[in-house]
Amino acid sequence: MVEHLLTADEAAHHAALLKDLDRWRGEPAHWDRAGRLPEPVIRWCREQRLTGAALPAELGGGGWDAVRTGLLYEAMGRVSASLASLVNVHDMAAQVVVRWGTEEQRRDVLPPLANGSRLAAIAMTEPQAGSDLSGIETNLEERDGRLLLNGCKVFITFGQQADVFLVFAQRAGQSIACLVDRDQPGLTVTPMGEMLGLRAAALGRLEFRDCEISPSAVVGRDGFGLAVLVPLALEHGRHAVAWMAAGMLHEVFLAASEYALERRAFGRALIEHGQVQSLITRMGTDLEATRHLCLAASRALDSGDSAATDRVLTAKYFACRVLEEHSAQAVQLLAAQGALESGVTARVYRDAKVLNILEGTTQILERMLAPRLASAARRRS
Ligand SMILES: Cc1cc2nc3c(=O)[nH]c(=O)nc-3n(C[C@H](O)[C@H](O)[C@H](O)COP(=O)(O)OP(=O)(O)OC[C@H]3O[C@@H](n4cnc5c(N)ncnc54)[C@H](O)[C@@H]3O)c2cc1C
Repeated sequence: MVEHLLTADEAAHHAALLKDLDRWRGEPAHWDRAGRLPEPVIRWCREQRLTGAALPAELGGGGWDAVRTGLLYEAMGRVSASLASLVNVHDMAAQVVVRWGTEEQRRDVLPPLANGSRLAAIAMTEPQAGSDLSGIETNLEERDGRLLLNGCKVFITFGQQADVFLVFAQRAGQSIACLVDRDQPGLTVTPMGEMLGLRAAALGRLEFRDCEISPSAVVGRDGFGLAVLVPLALEHGRHAVAWMAAGMLHEVFLAASEYALERRAFGRALIEHGQVQSLITRMGTDLEATRHLCLAASRALDSGDSAATDRVLTAKYFACRVLEEHSAQAVQLLAAQGALESGVTARVYRDAKVLNILEGTTQILERMLAPRLASAARRRS
């Protein structure tokens, strides 16, 4: 459990979240098969104010700090990574507007996002630009006195179900972002097709054809898109994904432990076999290490520590890497049971793979972390 690392208030908050989310435990296999979250589940998240939990209280959000928000993702990750991703992409988009939105956007756009009446998603990736977003071709230009958006975004989590998108584009070679409503003429949303993981996250493809944008929908200044807004969104996203991975690892560790204790082979419980002991020990210690790294990241964010970005990167990298390794091991340990498509281990195994692709692939995080870790080591020597 993570409780021994928390204050009494934080532990009570976590326990309440786990209890509330328990109602959905039997459902995720159905959601994955349907390829989307059912409307009642999304409505429940909105009504519980989970989508706006981390948004400022003065705008109608929950005003939760990073620790409480992290615990929400951990609790959601135990149920379904797709469910946790609903809150995550909404929060990533909204937090950019909280920090860089105009007064008008704070007044008109944020309250419905904070109180759960509208859902947001974030659109960065394009067919030709994923890890390297400097290749974004979606173009915003003024023509005949109108601001028109043209281009294509792919793999947009909850693209099929969100009400509004934060879209990254370029204007005269400068990177920018703007808000686009899903019913805006000139925007067509189509399903991405079935994914390996996050199957219930209703990924969408967005096609903009002379989609007219109000000048008041531009967020931040020209040139801010990649330099300021993307890093801000990704920091929120990575913090969320790290905690969600901790929740998922908790689930596979539980499944692996129960199976190792109950299942007998060659006259003994599996847990008495050396190879299984090694697997369970590595899984359990990596789970504990993941929780420490996630909490260190949250506490650094809450205290405004200058090392917060490094801590978030480290937590996301480590949590997702060990989750991928151990979810594969858990499938191996539970063997045929583990390979059942509707089971927890198989679902987490699929979801773990894609968590190592989004919010910065493993390789991109290594590219970012290696120089930071090496320089920090030299500074401390
Ligand atoms: C389930 C899922 C949900 C997603 N949701 C969203 C969303 O909501 N919004 C959104 O905008 N995008 C979303 N994405 C897209 C995601 O952000 C991109 O897939 C990711 O950034 C990687 O881009 P790419 O797939 O184009 O891979 P590429 O950038 O083409 O990379 C291909 C491979 O090359 C490696 N690589 C690239 N550059 C380097 C380098 N310099 N050194 C070493 N290796 C390198 C990568 O690690 C990868 O293995 C989602 C993706 C998935 C799978």
